Amino acid sequence: MASEIEKGTKYIPEMAQTEIDDLNKSIKTASLKVIEDNIERMKKAWKNRPQAMEYFDEISNLFGKRQEEIKQQKTAGKKVVGYSCIFAPIEMILAADAIPVRVGSGWYDTAKLGDRIMPVEICPVIRSTVGAKMVSLSPFLELSDAIVMPLTCDGRTKLSEILADYKPIWHMNPPRVKDDPHTLGMWKQEIMVIKEKIEKLTGNKITRKNLKEAIEKMQQATKAFRRLQDLRKGNPVINGRDAMLVNQTSLWDDVERWTQKVNELCDELEKRVEQKEHSTYPDTPRVMLTGTPMIWPDSWKVPNLIEESNPQGLVVVDEQCSGDRILYDPVGVDEWTMSDMLDAISERYLMACTCPCFTSEHGNEDRINWIIDRIKEYKVDGVIYYVVRGCILYAMEYQRIKRVLDKMNIPVYYLDTEYTREDVGQMKTRVEAFLEMLEARMDI
Ligand code: SF4
Ligand code: SF4
Repeated sequence: MASEIEKGTKYIPEMAQTEIDDLNKSIKTASLKVIEDNIERMKKAWKNRPQAMEYFDEISNLFGKRQEEIKQQKTAGKKVVGYSCIFAPIEMILAADAIPVRVGSGWYDTAKLGDRIMPVEICPVIRSTVGAKMVSLSPFLELSDAIVMPLTCDGRTKLSEILADYKPIWHMNPPRVKDDPHTLGMWKQEIMVIKEKIEKLTGNKITRKNLKEAIEKMQQATKAFRRLQDLRKGNPVINGRDAMLVNQTSLWDDVERWTQKVNELCDELEKRVEQKEHSTYPDTPRVMLTGTPMIWPDSWKVPNLIEESNPQGLVVVDEQCSGDRILYDPVGVDEWTMSDMLDAISERYLMACTCPCFTSEHGNEDRINWIIDRIKEYKVDGVIYYVVRGCILYAMEYQRIKRVLDKMNIPVYYLDTEYTREDVGQMKTRVEAFLEMLEARMDI
């Protein structure tokens, strides 16, 4: 309990409502412009962009259709469970007939607001999320009835305290070592605690039947996601940032509709493979992105730079929890008993995750193996290792990954940045130099 002296919010200073409203309005207007600009740039770069992409363009408007839908469903009695990171068991939220939405912030302007209460050394994902809360900008954060907060890094741990002034926070403690015999048991207990909290919030029991249905729904989403990913392995039929947008909209869209729309997109793309109709030149250098999550809309700064550079690059795959890691692994169930399903969920959310918050006797070797496998599968020419300043976990793993990539003769570039638009010019020069080098290697 807070002390007698400490009344009101713990961190966020009192702000006049007029200031909140003004900032909300101006940042929202700027954000809508960024969203529109990103989509226009994607359209410009891909002249014959499939019609099916229009759906994802619409859902990408964080202040648009999806927000309205969720509001209406809330009015009709549904609960919204926000989550800050991919350790939250989505299947359980769906099983209890609640709406899952990810609430991490990709707004650069709100990071500046977060600076009012946090030093700039703190990761901008955290400063931006706090800033978004200060001016009630994030529709999904505002609509959440509770937030699942896995305590993976120091930033997220303290973020949970700040947000606790506004929303019920459900902590989860992922073990830092995932392959010790007892840690999976500890994690399963965490999953069981979240299950109870979801049931209490929604008033809906998670049963064998509704959990099975939810797992199957997510398995279908994974299947559609993998179908799209398979199309990225060959000659380019979809540009990287378009595929990234498709993947990221799954974090706030209705999962069944998203799955159907991804399958419609894949139908169009598969025809293009047959007709040898490409989204860009087949000899474009193939780039993998890895590192800090790249959150829509402002963080499209990086894929925009890569795919608009001269020479141009093509993002064919990523190793990010804002991208390919969201849906890559399905929950694998042997027998559809309640206990088996709960075990399968626990395993999937812990063992399949390659987040750098993990270590083991061999360090975070799952991430290394994931990267090596994808480089081979997607015929990657070079890797861009993206780190926002303040994200110690990704920064520290760089040297190890670089050594592995050096041995594979795969060039890697460490692209560190901030939540700002001011460094676009110098980043462009850095990205172009890297892509020039990749192109020169391909010509030899
Ligand atoms: S990088 Fe790790 S801790 Fe950060 S959001 Fe992703 S999964 Fe969570
Ligand atoms: S980007 Fe890094 S420091 Fe920031 S919240 Fe994610 S894991 Fe933590």
